[in-house]
Amino acid sequence: MSESSESVAQERVFAGIRATGRQHIGNYFGAIKNFVALQDRYQCIYSIVDLHSLTTLTESEQLSNSVFETALDLIAAGLDPNRCILYVQSHVPEVSELHLLLSMLVPNGWLLRVPTFKEKARAQPDNVNYGLVGYPVLQTADIILYKASRVPVGQDQLPHLELAREIVRRFNHHFGDMFPEPEPVLTEAPLLLGADRRKMSKSYGNQIDLAASEAESLERVRQFITDPQRERKSDPGRPEICNVYSLHALFNADERPEVYRKCTQAEWGCVDCKLQLGNAINDSLGPLRARRADLATRPDEVWEALAEGAERARVIARSVLAEAQERMGLPPARSRVAKDAAALS
Ligand code: ATP
Ligand code: MG
Repeated sequence: MSESSESVAQERVFAGIRATGRQHIGNYFGAIKNFVALQDRYQCIYSIVDLHSLTTLTESEQLSNSVFETALDLIAAGLDPNRCILYVQSHVPEVSELHLLLSMLVPNGWLLRVPTFKEKARAQPDNVNYGLVGYPVLQTADIILYKASRVPVGQDQLPHLELAREIVRRFNHHFGDMFPEPEPVLTEAPLLLGADRRKMSKSYGNQIDLAASEAESLERVRQFITDPQRERKSDPGRPEICNVYSLHALFNADERPEVYRKCTQAEWGCVDCKLQLGNAINDSLGPLRARRADLATRPDEVWEALAEGAERARVIARSVLAEAQERMGLPPARSRVAKDAAALS
């Protein structure tokens, strides 16, 4: 192995995915696709972040099932628990402790400025909880618990990652260089819009789920907003501002020039264009959906893979946490025990 490929192999990648429901095509093209691609080049650690889900999820009985569904999506999309570490966030409790340590360093003002905090606070005014404010601190702890230097994310996560970098700089400044500043890794499609043209998101309900049935996918594509100026089929459309056209690029690239021509020359209407897109989505997701359905029949295998992932993650997490504790001046636990014993004798 050459020196440079060795150093790449030693760098760590971390990414988290919220367990707030099934994954959608925005998650796939914005993040999961890179999770899969990076597996063979880096030591990759992927977490299903169930603690983060609790900031917005009130139906706690659904959480475990959402974790399971998320694991199905990720494995069916190509994550291989033998080639990466895939685990559930709460199974590595060291993250909560690192989160507490980091919280001592982060000024409240930094957190209250975060756009997603403001947005979530507006969306759930009766539940502006402490976890919602501290979300980026927990996210930073997720990443640096493994000293990860690269984080595959969608565009919406860039402000959070910038904050993570600020927190790392602050830690390193006070306690000596310990953590690399994590860099985002974006895909070629870092922001997919949903049916209503807002960011495609589980919380907005405007998404196309990877695991949706063919009929559900067709129905959701039918609801997508197209060119608002195009009132009837005989009006030429403007593909450059049409979200359906941009999705053709991802699922139906070969036919895209033809889609462009038919739209701009009013040879077909938005209904036809959406039907072709819906069919292309179903064709392209067919193999993933089949793998997922197969895996769903073997839940024990999935939970076992997640448990093994957590064990492997904890080996790294324990040692990084111990180093952070030491740098922050906390006495090593062993010496505390020894002193207690001496006092008793
Ligand atoms: P929630 O609404 O619960 O926050 P979400 O749909 O935003 O869910 P997350 O679990 O927060 O999904 O995001 C997982 C990953 O997918 C993140 O890296 C995020 O940046 C990326 N991602 C989410 N939505 C999109 C999107 N519409 N386009 C591209 N990437 C996305
Ligand atoms: Mg999100």
